[in-house]
Amino acid sequence: MDFYVMTLFPQMILQAASFSILDRAQKQGRISVHGVDIREYSHNKHRHVDDAPYGGGAGMVMQAPPVYEAYEAICRKVGARPRVAYMTPAGETFTQKKARELAREENLVLLCGHYEGIDQRVIDEIVTDEISIGDYVLTGGELPALVVIDAVARMIDGVLGNEESAGEESFSGMLLEYPQYTRPADFRGRKVPEILMGGNHEEVRLWRLERAMETTMEKRPDLLRPEGMSREERGIYERLREKFLEKSLASKGHL
Ligand code: SAM
Repeated sequence: MDFYVMTLFPQMILQAASFSILDRAQKQGRISVHGVDIREYSHNKHRHVDDAPYGGGAGMVMQAPPVYEAYEAICRKVGARPRVAYMTPAGETFTQKKARELAREENLVLLCGHYEGIDQRVIDEIVTDEISIGDYVLTGGELPALVVIDAVARMIDGVLGNEESAGEESFSGMLLEYPQYTRPADFRGRKVPEILMGGNHEEVRLWRLERAMETTMEKRPDLLRPEGMSREERGIYERLREKFLEKSLASKGHL
């Protein structure tokens, strides 16, 4: 999959994508991350790409023509008109589901704003998706674009060494991930749960499922959909729910 990041700071993207799993995935040819410098499409002799907002107000706005021409150059290069995700606090909140959906694209363009944002007309002209990474305002779209690249790349076959890692972790279904442990077996008196060291795969699987359910009930009960659970999950869910209810009644002094 090819990511084309339209930005005023391509080095920020290229450098961040040159570590660890993203670096390996690029070297293996599973993904490519391209930084497309919007400034190169400026016709201004000082290579300005921003101007004051019509109607007044603070800050500067990125102009439509260089953004549009940068996109057209990408289209010519790939011989198609790829999807364009504009990083904006006004977009839909990015989720694992959206990452999975975007991972099906052959080419994906990520558009990073800066200053007060981008002239609305080019957004209307080329943008297909608007993505926010949370309810806060950053100085630019580069960090959000990197968040999207990282989450999407992990969904692509072969990017993670072990295919199971993407399938079992938080948000892949409706459960958060179970707790993980590694050596040493005793850390400042805190022991690794016995069951994980016993070598019984079925017991380990059930323990993990139960812990995942428990973590989700404690931290993100909104993710749980009892009607979508298997019989096994439903059994664990009902049992834990009773335990939670008892605990809550006990803490209120009712038991
Ligand atoms: N004036 C804009 C507003 O209030 O929505 C904020 C512009 S912000 C300073 C500059 C750029 O950062 C935006 O165009 C967008 O690309 C990016 N950005 C900031 N916060 C973001 C967020 N939470 N998610 C995605 N992109 C964000």
